[in-house]
Amino acid sequence: MQVVDPQPQPIASTIADPLHIWSGLAGAGQARAWVEHHLAAARSAVAELLAVSGQRTLEDTLVPYDRARWHLGMAGSQSGVMFMVHPLAEVRDAAQQLSQVIGAESVALSLNREVYQALEALHASLTADASAADAATLYYLDRTLLSYRLSGVDKDEATRERIRALADRMTALGMSFSRTVQDDVRKIPVEDPDELLGLPEDYLARHGVQPVAGSGSGSGAVPHLAAAAPVTLTTDPPEMAPVMSYAASPQLRRRMYLAYNDRAFPANRQVLLDLLAAREEMATLLGFRSWADLATVDQMMGSAAKMREFLNEVEVAARETAQREFAELEAFVRERDPGALPLTLSDARFWEEQFRRSRFDFDSQSVRPYFPYDQVEAGILSTAGRLFGVEFAAAPDAVVWAPGVKAFDVIDDAAGSATHGQTIGRIYLDMHPREGKSKWFSECSLVSGVLGRQLPEASLVCNFPQPDGSDPGLMLYSDVVTCFHEFGHLMHEVLGGRQRWAGQSGISTEGDFVEVPSQMLEEFFEDPELVRAFARHYQTGEPIPYDVFARMVRASAHGRALATLTQVMYATYSLETHDRPAATLDLDALLRAGYDRFSRYEFVEGNRMYAAFTHLVGYTSNYYTYLFDKVMALEFFSEFDVRNLIESPTALRYRREVLEPGGSKPARELVRAFLGREASLSALKSWISREFE
Ligand SMILES: [Zn+2]
Repeated sequence: MQVVDPQPQPIASTIADPLHIWSGLAGAGQARAWVEHHLAAARSAVAELLAVSGQRTLEDTLVPYDRARWHLGMAGSQSGVMFMVHPLAEVRDAAQQLSQVIGAESVALSLNREVYQALEALHASLTADASAADAATLYYLDRTLLSYRLSGVDKDEATRERIRALADRMTALGMSFSRTVQDDVRKIPVEDPDELLGLPEDYLARHGVQPVAGSGSGSGAVPHLAAAAPVTLTTDPPEMAPVMSYAASPQLRRRMYLAYNDRAFPANRQVLLDLLAAREEMATLLGFRSWADLATVDQMMGSAAKMREFLNEVEVAARETAQREFAELEAFVRERDPGALPLTLSDARFWEEQFRRSRFDFDSQSVRPYFPYDQVEAGILSTAGRLFGVEFAAAPDAVVWAPGVKAFDVIDDAAGSATHGQTIGRIYLDMHPREGKSKWFSECSLVSGVLGRQLPEASLVCNFPQPDGSDPGLMLYSDVVTCFHEFGHLMHEVLGGRQRWAGQSGISTEGDFVEVPSQMLEEFFEDPELVRAFARHYQTGEPIPYDVFARMVRASAHGRALATLTQVMYATYSLETHDRPAATLDLDALLRAGYDRFSRYEFVEGNRMYAAFTHLVGYTSNYYTYLFDKVMALEFFSEFDVRNLIESPTALRYRREVLEPGGSKPARELVRAFLGREASLSALKSWISREFE
């Protein structure tokens, strides 16, 4: 049988909405009105769909259904962003409540049996006539009907009522969990300033700490520190991370580690158990053995059993190299400071840093002068522009939500592209910490693009150091890599934002494919020419020297096997909490068992990281996504010519075959199209063991 794949037809009904972006809103009342506008638009689209009688068509059924999803999706994602970034607490509070309202409305749509029956009737009429719809449309309809069945739409009324109540409860518990984590910032008093020895000079200066006069100057040679006033550190990541990597005092590191890994405890222990119980009941009602089975059935992974198999394979691939890495580290510590053995989890980052310095003659602090924030931002925009064939132009008409947030229009610059020279989307960069702002690094969709109707818009929400007066906001190499990672999501959102259906736009592939484009970009930053194009010393303008760069790359390759096992451990925790009866779950024992199995470091009593493990809310059982996607990202990267990363035709082929389809095809097809085969673990294995090659 010949499969006909006609060109998408123009759609009569318009989707563009002047209120598509919230960023001009000032107060809580306006935020509520904005959300209400989109809820009303979604309801009216659903009513339009249900009013149809007789034979259903794409125009009268899928078009309004997709419009309802566009309004709900956008209102949901933007109220999430408001909650993360709005400068006013009243708007953040309102946004949190609104997210719940929108969540409930989305659940109601996903359980609306009449809508389901309408889509099923449309599906029947389309499959009877092979020329009536293109492959992407049929795929959209298939995925949508599957998600309806996974929501329990075909269950009896009492069961659906219970499902609705459980879904609302899961939303509320998830928000409460995240909110508690965001608000719980612990303080660590430092009575003896000498405990801060080893920390970078700008970190000390920010806390009013100086070397004692006459005790020598320069890095590493200062025996004493003094503070004008008592020093208090917090568990915010920019304060926490340097302590774990650089503070010479094991006592300070331990106090920081315990404070950080006790955040949101005890409050979130019960919240998490209640959440897991609700998910378990939901999975049972829907006919699944566990939540982990339910959450993977519509993913590339397929089932909890396959996930366990995958994690075992990765563990086997990393174990031997991890033993070797740890044995080297222990030997190093035995030589330097035998009293520091056995190494605990609160010593890990510090000693790994010391080992890297010694083995590779590389100090991660020493390259920060080559990475002042503004220069990195410009470098990332220009690298991404060359790689993906786009240009970024400042968007002076864009309304931003806080001073310092930047907006750019994305202009297509790829040779032979149908949209060459045209604006294809807009991005926002909200890159620095601010009072009340979320402390994390993420990419957020704002508006889903629809072909011929609406350009995609998306934002980065990050916490990189803020350049300020004489402080150029120097970044670590790892920060630069993180920044490019998040940028990978942004490009996926924009370049995948030209779909006929909003529900297939941007990052709407299976959830366990979404970290592939971002993780692949991380690999580009091992190329010296690419990085030297923007990594210039902020005082002298000299590019980062080749030998320093080579040592930096070698040093960052150290410890990959240990880090991979840590990821396997988190993924296993995320799987097991969702694959066992919640009533008998012991969160602490499970955590301990994970560390005993996967970590070489001694467990630190009092570590209750699960109470702030926010991935359990968003990713639920599917933390494996990071590893699974790393495997594919490395395979994708191996297709590029390392001597000509940017200008090679592979980059454009990648844009066309992986990013531009958005969610209009199963991710396995994207993989096969780009690799010409299925992904295997071979690129991961060589990436893990590269330091010993
Ligand atoms: Zn990511």
